[in-house]
Parts: sequence; structure tokens; C-alpha cells
Amino acid sequence: MLWPTPRTLSGFGLSSFAEVPQVQPDNLDELASVLAAARAEGRSLALRGAGRSYGDAALDANAVVLDTSRLNRIRAADWTTGVLTIEPGVTIEQLWRTGLQHGYWPAVVPGTMFPTLGGCAAMNVHGKNNFKAGTTGDHVLAFELVTASGEHIRCSRTENADIFHAAIGGFGMLGVFTSITLKLKHIACGELMVTPHVTHSIADMVSTLERLADTSDYMVGWVDMLGRDAGGIIHSASYADAPASDARATLSAAHQDLPTKLLGVVPKGWIWPMLWCGMTRPGMRTVNALKRWSGTLHAARGPERQSLVGFSFLLDYVPNWRKAYLPGGFVQFQSFVPRGGAAGTFEELRQLARAAGIQPFLGVMKKHRPDPFLLTHAVDGFSLALDFPVGPSNWPRFRALAERMTEVVLAAGGRFYPAKDSVMTAETLRRYVPAASLAQFLALKRRLDPELRFRTGFSRRALEPLL
Ligand SMILES: Cc1cc2nc3c(=O)[nH]c(=O)nc-3n(C[C@H](O)[C@H](O)[C@H](O)COP(=O)(O)OP(=O)(O)OC[C@H]3O[C@@H](n4cnc5c(N)ncnc54)[C@H](O)[C@@H]3O)c2cc1C
Repeated sequence: MLWPTPRTLSGFGLSSFAEVPQVQPDNLDELASVLAAARAEGRSLALRGAGRSYGDAALDANAVVLDTSRLNRIRAADWTTGVLTIEPGVTIEQLWRTGLQHGYWPAVVPGTMFPTLGGCAAMNVHGKNNFKAGTTGDHVLAFELVTASGEHIRCSRTENADIFHAAIGGFGMLGVFTSITLKLKHIACGELMVTPHVTHSIADMVSTLERLADTSDYMVGWVDMLGRDAGGIIHSASYADAPASDARATLSAAHQDLPTKLLGVVPKGWIWPMLWCGMTRPGMRTVNALKRWSGTLHAARGPERQSLVGFSFLLDYVPNWRKAYLPGGFVQFQSFVPRGGAAGTFEELRQLARAAGIQPFLGVMKKHRPDPFLLTHAVDGFSLALDFPVGPSNWPRFRALAERMTEVVLAAGGRFYPAKDSVMTAETLRRYVPAASLAQFLALKRRLDPELRFRTGFSRRALEPLL
């Protein structure tokens, strides 16, 4: 096969790159040809959706990148039940734009609307409602997987259940999702009632999230990691019951679409260069202090109505915000810690980062619940996601810090998330995944992909040494 000329692809954090051929099949026949050519020529394939994973989980320097984003048709939709069968390249944005007019919203969404459902299922994505609604996988009823040999396998909780629970969250290692059947959530109104809450420390945020969980549908906490006390703001939200007369209007795309200008004046394209200028520790300290101040003012005002899109995809307000981290990019270190040890562990991570002199510019906390998928990152507890600016000058120091933070998280029985990872080793994966689950996953990888057709930078680093 004549592979396309290599091009530079990156992870979302702009700190992992590869110069590789990228193929983008338009239909399942083309996908089958790519798989056959890779087998015939002994090429490995790195599966990719929208490339929104932060590190190297959707690219590999030695592989052909097989991008499934053009397989993006909705094959069947039942608007009486909200059950859809879609191709893997359908995005979260396509789902809400299609579903909302019928009163349906994706049951789980990440903090951006651009990922594909293939990518979300492969990572078993969680949202701000993980503590209540589980992960993407919890709402998948069935899928079809094409393996390295070209075999089509249908999987559900009752058919090939072992593969069902392994491929969801299996970061593209067992085969290509070619169709996914999932159930959307029925909603009466396209708005949420959002309440801000001020917190004064990491321990305060953990206990406030715990307290608010019963009465909230969504919760997310922003932690000021550069402030002295790690205070922050939690936004809790519940589905709003709109009066019947305007409920329909809130379900329209026009009501949901994000504004094109900040505060109605500043074109959004200008924001990342402005952020870039402030991307120093003092600059970010000021940005964080302003954010805390405005959060405190909002908290005094009480609950406000917000569109589902506005609340869910806050990070999409600023196009290309990641470029503010150039030239080095950034790495996210997200750890998931069982509830009893979460506050102490996260405080220890903060102290380690301060001592190392590499402080994260962003900290986000969420509450989680366990799920039945083999390699799941979710725990009955909390996660803290920390965005660290990186570059050649601080990369060795960051690695050393990441190793120390990893030990602290592992000692607390914590877990990690391949979608956000850039540093995990196979030893770490072995220590956080329960032994029986890991053995089952490795056995499936050997059975379904004995020649390691599906590989990524992440899998070479964190999985293959265990095979
Ligand atoms: C701004 C931002 C906010 C985010 N917020 C969250 C969040 O709140 N919660 C959360 O869980 N995640 C979050 N993420 C991470 C993101 O949701 C995941 O990385 C998701 O997997 C991205 O989907 P994608 O289509 O871009 O997949 P990619 O990143 O391209 O790929 C992800 C994985 O899926 C595999 N894959 C892709 N397509 C297929 C296929 N057809 N068959 C089999 N395997 C496939 C790839 O090999 C890779 O391992 C966020 C990311 C960004 C950029």
C-alpha cells in the first residue's frame, strides 16, 4: 500500500510528537484494506480519534496512525428510547447537536465536545457526573470490534462479555471499534442550575464535594494550586426544570452554542495569545487570584441557570488555549485516590510540587465511583488533575517529580488514566491494576493481537514490557 507522506502529529498537550503517515478511511471497506495492508507489510497501527488525549496514547513514532474520525455516521437512532448506533468517529458535539432537539443529551461528556465516541469508549471517559452516572462505558450497550486479523466481534454485557469489559478502557489495544450502540440521557430542559461554593483548602474541597454529592447531578472543583492555602471554587449543578413553555427553546442549538466573543467584545481567537503573555508563575498567580475573586462574588449571588453546553465544555470557550503553553507544551498528571486517603494524598502532591519548584498552573478535582471495566482508572474517591508546563529546561526535574508523586498515589491505593498520561511506566500499571484484571487483559491482547499490530507510544512504555 502507498502510505501517505508522514506528517507531524501531537498529543493534545503539545509535548508529545511523531512524524508519521496518517490514514483516514471513509468507510469500513477502506478500513479493512488498511488492516490487510498493515498485516501484509508488518506495519503497526496507532489508533486515533480526534487526538484529544494529552500524551502519546493516540500516536506512535514507528506506526501508521489509523484515524477513525471520518467514520462518523449515525447508523440508527430510536428517539423513543434514546438508543443510537453510531460509527466510532461520531463526536460528542455531533451527539448533542443531534440528540438535544429530541430531548436527549450524552449521559457522560468530557470537558470538551470534540472527542470521538471511539476515543471516549477506548479511554472509558468520565465527566463531571462520574460519581452519579459512571463512565462512557456504563452507557454503551454493545459494540463491534474489528481485530488485527480482520475478524468482526460483536460484544455486549452478555455476548463476548470479557472483550466488552476489556476493550472499553483498553486504549485501542484489542481492535478497532467500528460501531457503538449507546443510550443517551433523556432531559426535559437544556439548562442546569449551577451553584458556586468557595473552599479554603484541599481537605475542605474533598469534604464539600462529599457533602454536595447527594443533591447534585454534576460537580467540579477548581483548585488554586499557586495560592498559599490551595483554596478553590466548586461548581455543583442539577438538571433544571424549566416551565413547559420555554423548555423547548432551551433544547435548541442556538440556545446552547458558545458565544463567539468573550464578554461580547473580545474575539475568542485573541484570548490564547493574551494568555500566552501571562504564562509565567506571577502571571498565572494573578489569573488565579482573579478567578478566585470572581468565583467568590458569584458564590455570594447564589445559583444561576446555565446551558448544558456552557457548563459542560468550559474549556472550549477559548479556542487553542493549549497554545498558551508553547513552546514546551504541558503534561497533565491526573491521579485517582480512594476517598479515605484523597485529601492527604493531594495535599502531599501539592507540597512535593512546591518543593520541586514546578508548580501546576491548573488543578481540577472531581468525585468518582468504581466501574466494572478491567483497566478502569475510576475509584470510589476523588481525582486531582494537575497541568504542568514543561519544556527542555524542566523536563528532567518534572520526571523526577512525577516519579515521587506516583509513589505517593500508589501508596494510597490510587490509579492513573492513560488519556492524560505522558510518564507512566509498566511497573506503575502493574501496581495499580488488580493482578487478576491485568492478567485477563494481557491474555486477551496475546489472543486478539499476537503480532502487536495495535501499538502507541503509551502502550510501548506502559503495557508491552508486561506482555
Ligand atoms: C480539553 C480537554 C478536556 C478533557 N476532559 C476530560 C474529562 O473531563 N474526562 C475524561 O475522561 N477525559 C477528558 N479528556 C480526555 C479525552 O476525553 C480523552 O482523551 C478521549 O479519549 C479523547 O477522544 P479522541 O476521540 O480524541 O481519542 P484519541 O485521543 O484520538 O484516542 C484515545 C484512545 O482511543 C483509541 N481509539 C481511538 N479511536 C478508536 C477506535 N475507533 N477503536 C479503538 N480505539 C480507538 C486510541 O488508540 C487512544 O488510545 C479531555 C481532553 C481535553 C483535550
